[in-house]
Amino acid sequence: MLPRDTRAGLSRRRFLTASSALAALAAAEGLPGWTRPAGAFGGRRSPPLPSGDLFSLGVASGDPFDRGLVLWTRLAPEPLAGGGMDPVPVDVEWELATDPGLQNVVQAGRVVARPEWGHAVHVKLWNLEPNRWYWYRFSVGDRASRVGRTRTMPAGDDLPARLRFALASCQNYQAGFYTAYANMAQEDLDLVVHVGDYIYESGISDGAVRPHNSGQVRTLDEYRDRYALYKLDPNLQDVHAAFPMIVTWDDHEVDNNYASDVPEDDQPREVFLARRAAAYQAYFEHMPLVSSARPTGPDMQLFRRFDYGRLARFNVLDTRQFRTDQVCGDPLATRCPDAVAPETTLVGQAQEDWLKSGLKGSQAVWNVLAQQVMMMEWDLGTALGAGEALYNPDQWDGYPNSRQRILDFVAAKEIPNLVVLTGDIHSSWAGELKPDFGDPASPVVGSEFVTTSISSSFSPQLVPLAAGSLPFNPHIRFFEGLRRGYLRFDVTPGEWRADYRAVATVLEPTSAVETLASFRVESGRGGVEAV
Ligand code: CA
Ligand code: FE
Repeated sequence: MLPRDTRAGLSRRRFLTASSALAALAAAEGLPGWTRPAGAFGGRRSPPLPSGDLFSLGVASGDPFDRGLVLWTRLAPEPLAGGGMDPVPVDVEWELATDPGLQNVVQAGRVVARPEWGHAVHVKLWNLEPNRWYWYRFSVGDRASRVGRTRTMPAGDDLPARLRFALASCQNYQAGFYTAYANMAQEDLDLVVHVGDYIYESGISDGAVRPHNSGQVRTLDEYRDRYALYKLDPNLQDVHAAFPMIVTWDDHEVDNNYASDVPEDDQPREVFLARRAAAYQAYFEHMPLVSSARPTGPDMQLFRRFDYGRLARFNVLDTRQFRTDQVCGDPLATRCPDAVAPETTLVGQAQEDWLKSGLKGSQAVWNVLAQQVMMMEWDLGTALGAGEALYNPDQWDGYPNSRQRILDFVAAKEIPNLVVLTGDIHSSWAGELKPDFGDPASPVVGSEFVTTSISSSFSPQLVPLAAGSLPFNPHIRFFEGLRRGYLRFDVTPGEWRADYRAVATVLEPTSAVETLASFRVESGRGGVEAV
């Protein structure tokens, strides 16, 4: 996320009618893997289950569409020691209701938690009603999870009056508590978008508010235990239980600042790809993702699209798996010739083509990119008196041609109301996107909102430097670096509003939250205005 030399400082049961159960069976994904009920119906006998909370990691939902979504849980009675399950498949039952008390169950079924996938389950639901809340629960025998709440998207041809959602990024466990999530869980939201650094792979650091459970993680078992550590946090569990979450990753889900098959530190490509495969598998196991995202070795299909009716289209990007290596040096770099080489790309050709077709084919009022690294240009060198522009090569600034092709496409095709949502940099930013950032007359073709971190730190020493750089980057309208939190959006057909929500401290599990600043974008006009 940040220049490398500054990282140290920044650094559930009710018997259902046969018809509804059959309907659910028919609708559910992974049908061949399903088993008959154990015990009463003469199904497979299971060995005794371990004691402990099978549902220690909570429940989650995600990847919502108008007629369905994905429900998630993972059986882990010993979450920090490999999960604690015997290496055998286990039947998990689920039920979905239209009320918090689960009196009116509309679907239910059974899925197999398999040891080779960490006893995680991903249940894809179909045939739901659009644009409504549902409640769900998992169970094994008489042991049940908590009840989670989730929501489908509006129908594709519907223009909803309003969407409220939050953006989260960067939740380094060691840097603080998930105070922000305690507050986010209380917000009136339809969904949450998470743009990465859900875990950090690093070892135990001195002065950690909450130390990591191990040294740097590299193996599947280690990544699993790391996800378990993070997901044990009650505030994070409350957010997952309250809203569907759309997720994508950044670098720390694998290795700091990695690019495709190039790790941070020198190691053989095969060694790193084996690590990436372990990291991607653990990511899939712990996220509410559709099975099309299930990784094959070191490859995983994560970029995908979500339509909130015709109000907003979310293009969720993967800016790590397909990027060419950061080429121009560390930590800040001039724009060296390799950066503008035609083959230099942040998203890869296939994803770029997919994105352009998704923008061009969109009928949405708001066209959103949910992604990791800052897209707007940020020259820090001029402010530092370096006599030349210096950029963070890990951001879109390190891949200017990639950015240029996308912003030129948005301008040429007159894609309306581009809004880019960003994380990674552990600080709050707002700005405008232009095909030529150096030309005041260059049209504004989009807006960018960068969320601060949930907990990860941003070096206080960098705050005045970044603040001092704003006059040299007139398209950047807001920066704040000292506060942790999240972004809250209130979207209507006429306006996109952003509230920068900041907690008082992350040294305590709970604290007050306030709105530091608010901005709006008027539909059809572009440009970020302070409210
Ligand atoms: Ca990052
Ligand atoms: Fe981060």
